[in-house]
Amino acid sequence: MRSDGSSGGARGERCDVLIAGGGPAGCAAALPLVRAGAQVALVAPVGSPGWRIGESLSPAARPLLERLGVLDRLAADEHAPCYGNHAAWGRDALTAADFPFGPYGEGRHLDRARFDAALLEAALAGGVCRHTGRVRGARWQQDHWQITTSDGSVLRAGYLVDATGRSARPARLVGAASIRSDHLIAVAGQLPPPGTGTAAPERVSLVESTRWGWWYTAPLPGGGRVVMAMTDADLLTGLHLLHPGVWWAQARRTGHLQDRISDWEDPPQRLRVLAAGSARTGPAAGPGWAAVGDAATATDPLAARGIVTALATGLAAARAILADRAGDTGALPAYARRIAAVHAEYLRAKAAQYRREQRWDTPFWRRRR
Ligand SMILES: Cc1cc2nc3c(=O)[nH]c(=O)nc-3n(C[C@H](O)[C@H](O)[C@H](O)COP(=O)(O)OP(=O)(O)OC[C@H]3O[C@@H](n4cnc5c(N)ncnc54)[C@H](O)[C@@H]3O)c2cc1C
Repeated sequence: MRSDGSSGGARGERCDVLIAGGGPAGCAAALPLVRAGAQVALVAPVGSPGWRIGESLSPAARPLLERLGVLDRLAADEHAPCYGNHAAWGRDALTAADFPFGPYGEGRHLDRARFDAALLEAALAGGVCRHTGRVRGARWQQDHWQITTSDGSVLRAGYLVDATGRSARPARLVGAASIRSDHLIAVAGQLPPPGTGTAAPERVSLVESTRWGWWYTAPLPGGGRVVMAMTDADLLTGLHLLHPGVWWAQARRTGHLQDRISDWEDPPQRLRVLAAGSARTGPAAGPGWAAVGDAATATDPLAARGIVTALATGLAAARAILADRAGDTGALPAYARRIAAVHAEYLRAKAAQYRREQRWDTPFWRRRR
């Protein structure tokens, strides 16, 4: 299989493992597999330029990045430190949860595009073959997967890993179900760096609950800031939050977030709407395939654990595939059970966290009690 991004797969070339998706989960699965001697192909579209959502990296990522052998590479990129989270949740006052005294020290406010690119570069440098495009079809043929991509190529692989994020298309193609718990969405805006002379940003993220959901903000590399309003998809129209002027007026009426955005006069020019609900794929693995990252278990941004989960599940699925190749037929079912258990545990923790906010009897909060 060619690694130059062209459609060399049109002839049906074969690899040991084909990974669909080149985000953190796909790269975390690819690295241990290729290091164990497997021929790994990674099918991923060309990354869209500019801002990527998901910039807060929990300190718990550190041992995973170390295990993947990429910690030094990422340290060289000098992502900004994140010292913790502040939250106004369940009461007006802020509560601080600081990182530095935890076992892994501080977290990071990532340049997310750079972080993802560095992981992909590490996988390619390790010997993973890149095929540019999207997986469109997957069918089991006697002893291999036959995979078709957006450019019409046909690829063959012994194992298929779905690392396509929330869409989890390959997992659906092989018959797994998407089990959704809610329809949370994010209406996100990026504030550009303000003019010179303003104070250095507080290196903490902030969550603040409100009648119809909650706000989130964190500093971005270069002095900008991300601000997100989180609510349910069906409540959006009534709230008019897609209108930048309304969104901005609501942000400026908050108790705490308003202080973090006081350097900006105007709303962002453009707001992005992103799915942010909780969902899992069931089962998350089967004979010859596994789902990883958001494709396996997608969590509420309130949990701030998406990237860590992507790295951890990528590593775990790689281990299960290597065990399966060595004859352990229980490894992939055990991986699937583990994902189901971890997701169930997450849902219990999420419910407890939402129950801590009792100030409003509105649809958003009633649904979560
Ligand atoms: C609003 C919001 C804020 C968030 N904030 C944070 C945060 O601060 N911290 C945090 O840890 N997590 C955060 N997350 C979650 C985090 O971004 C994800 O959990 C993480 O990106 C999952 O990694 P992944 O590799 O599984 O999927 P992704 O990062 O989504 O990568 C999937 C890749 O697959 C590609 N792809 C899609 N379809 C196909 C296909 N058919 N074939 C091939 N490739 C395909 C996509 O282009 C993409 O590159 C946030 C999520 C949301 C929605």
